[in-house]
Amino acid sequence: MGTTTRAGVVDAAGGARDIHVALVHLGCARNLIDSENILGRLGAEGYALTGAVDQADVAILNTCSFIGPAREESEGAIRDLLAAKKEGQLRGVVVAGCLPEKFRPDIEARFPEVDAFLGLSDYSNVARIVEEVLKGRKIRDDVGGRAPQGQGEFLRLLQTPRSYAYLRPSHGCDHECAFCIIPQIRGKQSSKPIAAVVEETERLVAQGVREIVMVAEDTTGYGRDIKGGPELPELVEAMAAVDGLQWLRVMYAYPNRFPWRLTEVMTAHDNVVPYLDIPTQHIATPVLKRMRRGGSSDSVRRIMKRLREEVPGIALRTTVLVGHPGEDEASFEELLAWLEEFRFERLGAFAFSPEATAPAGQDDDRCSHQEALDRQRRVMELQARIHADFQQSLVGKDLQVLVDDNDGDWALARTWADAPEVDGLVKIHDPAHNLSTGAMPVVRVTAADGYDLTAEVQR
Ligand code: SF4
Repeated sequence: MGTTTRAGVVDAAGGARDIHVALVHLGCARNLIDSENILGRLGAEGYALTGAVDQADVAILNTCSFIGPAREESEGAIRDLLAAKKEGQLRGVVVAGCLPEKFRPDIEARFPEVDAFLGLSDYSNVARIVEEVLKGRKIRDDVGGRAPQGQGEFLRLLQTPRSYAYLRPSHGCDHECAFCIIPQIRGKQSSKPIAAVVEETERLVAQGVREIVMVAEDTTGYGRDIKGGPELPELVEAMAAVDGLQWLRVMYAYPNRFPWRLTEVMTAHDNVVPYLDIPTQHIATPVLKRMRRGGSSDSVRRIMKRLREEVPGIALRTTVLVGHPGEDEASFEELLAWLEEFRFERLGAFAFSPEATAPAGQDDDRCSHQEALDRQRRVMELQARIHADFQQSLVGKDLQVLVDDNDGDWALARTWADAPEVDGLVKIHDPAHNLSTGAMPVVRVTAADGYDLTAEVQR
């Protein structure tokens, strides 16, 4: 399930052609990889890539349609780009990604001025499409086929700082969670061969990347679509062996059928960070059943407890969904009590948003949206206290961190417990700018302030 949203115009280096293309990116880290693929293709074809829409000939919008608010944001961005075209700032507008993939007829009918629609494809034809658009042609056919299946993605133009990069070992999801339309958008799971993922890792490390953040719809399902194929523990082991990879972090680990050898691999390799993002969604058995999560209160509790036992010092991140059909006040209270007891180091909470084509979208046995937002607020207030206690427990400790950025007098870094974009930051006073992106100093934590830490360099 998508948990992060980043929006903005993606900056990129210039190319040789005198045609400027701007890419506007919306959505999660997995979508960012698609944006990087689009930019990589265009860069390889010699297009000049700009971060400014008003300096571009053509703008490509990579959309998100995970839930209603994400679709509204995507549609707002389409309207903004079409307005820029109408004012003569742009010659063409291309809309790509999850929104046209899932809602093509509706989007085509509502935005006929868009020059080209691309679903989730391998984007190998994106340069040709830009050319066609510049000739004044409207592109309505699917081009390029489905997103790359079973192969590495080697032409990306990274949009993350070189301290980290995302990597997806698989596409799609075989689960049928009642609230989710991702499998309808991204299809069934298709895993890349280990060799392709290892080669991607090697190439990213060769570009200076220190940390790989593994993202997929369901990372624990990796390999299960390949008969007799290796699974996630073998994949993590193979990636950890890549020379020069400093940190490897696993996100989006579906809890059921957890491949337990992963905990052995985590403890055996120093560069596999003791961190796991494992979306639980709920703890009350009736709600988990309505969500079609395939687990129960007991099984989720057992899995989480065992992770803490088998990986000492592990930082666990989870997401929960409140206001889902079947969640009454008692089951919500059960969730709150469990979160208070288990004390996840990191947590995100979402309010249920009915999706018309998802099974839960037709189920009216639920609280009002206002009540769902209220429950989300109550979870986040509880988590703010738990989080503050955890951050406070780090004060006085010496930790290795990874520097992502240097902003004025401060270097901005992360600990093992912080995934990029969704978790906290460590601020290190560095007026002499000794710490550049990718540096991994040991720092002493001097203060905890809300979500962030302050620290001083030790060595
Ligand atoms: S595991 Fe469930 S929530 Fe996550 S992508 Fe698959 S169907 Fe959606």
